[in-house]
Amino acid sequence: MLDGAELSQNDAVIYSGLEYYLRVEEKLREFFSLVNYCGGYCYYTDGVGCCTGEFYIDANVELNRQRKSLYGGKVKRSNCDDTKPCRFHCPSSGCSLVTHRSVVCNSFVCQSFRRYLMQQYQISYDSGEMAQLLKILLRNVLKKRELDYLLNKINSWIFQVKKVDNR
Ligand code: SF4
Ligand code: SF4
Repeated sequence: MLDGAELSQNDAVIYSGLEYYLRVEEKLREFFSLVNYCGGYCYYTDGVGCCTGEFYIDANVELNRQRKSLYGGKVKRSNCDDTKPCRFHCPSSGCSLVTHRSVVCNSFVCQSFRRYLMQQYQISYDSGEMAQLLKILLRNVLKKRELDYLLNKINSWIFQVKKVDNR
């Protein structure tokens, strides 16, 4: 049986990875919403793109638990046509999750999106590498300097997009 001190120490270990993950997620969201590629250029014409299936479910149990408690397990919105399998997708506004997206939802971009980032902004984005870093971060083994490197990298992308777009 764990006493109070051990329990809070354990909690710190469990939660700190997720806390940093959410920080990186916030930065990624800022970057992707500035670029806004999926909303205007997706080669799928159904308004849903690759937001199908249950990609929102992550291997990290705590991330799933917190998402479920914040957003529910099943989302039905009267103004959204939930014909596609992802229950968090809204045709008029895209993903309805503000936080607690899975690693794949936070990191994946398709090839045409990746090409656009390079051609338009000279940003070399690697979904696989980002997914790997996010997974490591969730397991709580990313060193501080690695986390700083990741955040600085995303910040530099944000800066670059603003510069190119004169924002
Ligand atoms: S990542 Fe690519 S396929 Fe997926 S929604 Fe965006 S543009 Fe469409
Ligand atoms: S959770 Fe959001 S980003 Fe992930 S598949 Fe669903 S709508 Fe897309």
